[in-house]
Amino acid sequence: MTRRPRVGVMGGTFDPVHHGHLVAASEAAARFELDEVVFVPTGQPTFKQDQKVSDAEHRYLMTVIATASNPRFTVSRVDVDRPGLTYTVDTLRDLHAQRPEADLYFISGADAIEQILRWKDADELWDMAHFVAVTRPGHALDVGRLPTGVVSTLEVPALSISSTDCRERAREGKPVWYLVPDGVVQYIEKYRLYRGLADE
Ligand code: ATP
Ligand code: MG
Repeated sequence: MTRRPRVGVMGGTFDPVHHGHLVAASEAAARFELDEVVFVPTGQPTFKQDQKVSDAEHRYLMTVIATASNPRFTVSRVDVDRPGLTYTVDTLRDLHAQRPEADLYFISGADAIEQILRWKDADELWDMAHFVAVTRPGHALDVGRLPTGVVSTLEVPALSISSTDCRERAREGKPVWYLVPDGVVQYIEKYRLYRGLADE
């Protein structure tokens, strides 16, 4: 009997996408035998309304560039193309409609999982996907308040890379080589992203 396809869902602002995201996706794919990991750049992120976020097309294209070499990694426009704020429940609903035969695994940092309880329709989420919380330096996971069995934790090699740090480096003219894929370094330089962002 063939098993149901397993599809990882890696949501994020990806401003810019970095090797922490890619290692987390790769580790989750190995651990849960995922057939595909879909990266889903947000539209307007719910939790970043007070921040200046790069144009969705830039974030989408950087994610395409970063994932192009991995045959199991794909990028979805569902959140970029949906008007309004991005809610994970909508992301999962759209991906389920596109892949009704697949089991979805929502991969996210431990810090983001803790915000689940604040998400719109949080109770619905547990039936829509299995949740994978990847640990990240400085963010221990407190699953105490979550229903049992819905979240798996996954330790990934400590990568203290964040998009915030990459943006600051780019703004200050410091290198982001090796923190993000080479093509993303070149994309940031080409479009002069993160220059003159004084408010972050
Ligand atoms: P920012 O600094 O702007 O918040 P970020 O680096 O946290 O950016 P996001 O796009 O916000 O990146 O993150 C998308 C997802 O990837 C989230 O679930 C986040 O927890 C996870 N993530 C981010 N950085 C890492 C990392 N270094 N290792 C593992 N997971 C990460
Ligand atoms: Mg973040």
